[in-house]
Amino acid sequence: MVWANGNFQKLPENYLFTDIARKVAEYQAAHPDADIIRLGIGDVTRPLPGSVIAALHSAVDEMGEAATFRGYGPEQGYTFLRQAVLENEYKPRGVTLELDEIFISDGAKSDTGNFTDLFGSGNIIAIPDPVYPVYLDSNIMSGHGGKQEITGEFSRIRFLPCLEENNFQPETPRRRVDIIYLCSPNNPTGTAMTFDQLRAWIEYALRYESLILFDAAYERYITQDGIPHSIYEIEGAERCAVEFRSYSKTAGFTGTRCSVTVVPKSVTARIREGGTVSLNKMWLRRQCTKFNETPYIVQRAAEAVYSPEGSREVDENIRYYLRNAAAIRSCFETMGCRVFGGVNSPYIWLKTPEGMGSWEYFDYLLQKYNIVGTPGAGFGACGEGYFRLTGFGTAESTEKAVARLLA
Ligand code: PLP
Repeated sequence: MVWANGNFQKLPENYLFTDIARKVAEYQAAHPDADIIRLGIGDVTRPLPGSVIAALHSAVDEMGEAATFRGYGPEQGYTFLRQAVLENEYKPRGVTLELDEIFISDGAKSDTGNFTDLFGSGNIIAIPDPVYPVYLDSNIMSGHGGKQEITGEFSRIRFLPCLEENNFQPETPRRRVDIIYLCSPNNPTGTAMTFDQLRAWIEYALRYESLILFDAAYERYITQDGIPHSIYEIEGAERCAVEFRSYSKTAGFTGTRCSVTVVPKSVTARIREGGTVSLNKMWLRRQCTKFNETPYIVQRAAEAVYSPEGSREVDENIRYYLRNAAAIRSCFETMGCRVFGGVNSPYIWLKTPEGMGSWEYFDYLLQKYNIVGTPGAGFGACGEGYFRLTGFGTAESTEKAVARLLA
């Protein structure tokens, strides 16, 4: 019999959202008449914008004609989309990158997870707590977590507590870490890093020759000034940071799948034999071996997001979700809860009332109001005592939930 990758035994048995789905299904089976409202979902509900649909149709037609049919495309993405990313995402913010530093992929989830292929053994990895669970789990799966202590902690993982006291922003550690995950605006806390906060991390990374993996999946939700939309808006980031962006939550591509990863050529890592290697070269090599590009039709759809019409439609959808987030935020404030996020993010992070545990509050909301949220503890130990709600529902279901909670 084959040997299994034993690192999987170190993971919780289920992905957080699998546990939630099971609990909700059990409740619904026991209460078939309950009108359950899902305010915990991390999936969008608005359909794809019209300009995206038109681009998809036209690309599908191209695939049906011998003269315009496309087979395998470039593993790092078609030039038309990478150029559009440079022109629309980076140039207007004064960021200069080269075409071969842009990689198109099928999701920020896969890319943040797959990037661990590039890490050697022995790195100390810093991960905010709470945060998107994929960073921790993918490192554990690939053996980068190190030894698991009896307490459940991992010898090579350092958590960066994000608490009310530090406005939920990870602080630079006193000791050296090699790899740092940052997510801004953050999932789940909904809070975003300021220029000064992010600059401190870049200075740290340059001082210790660390690598920052910056997840900007929610940058389009930033409404306030003084918050960077890309890590490369700060000088020095091009020497120490990789950035992940996604069309999922911005343009509704959660089921369509397209994302962007930026690996500047000046970001390097050490090798045991001596000297350094370019992560850009390694990532290209990795993608060429294990990935066969995002479908042509999807890349054309993503390109349409940058047309004047596409851009207007995306902005409208973002405003829609932010209006939902504002309504949820104000509802829980009225109920006397301490509430964070929801301004530069679709996520609302609330302190559970009366010292309830995260899962206890999950059960309370489900049973008393038939409303589903996400327990903060599912995003890390520091999320215990907090709860995540999202603006991704429909306006109708959000209004209904708010009315039910305030009745
Ligand atoms: N990064 C963060 C912080 C997320 O919250 C999510 C999805 O919830 C993703 C990445 C996944 O993005 P994608 O759909 O592009 O894989």
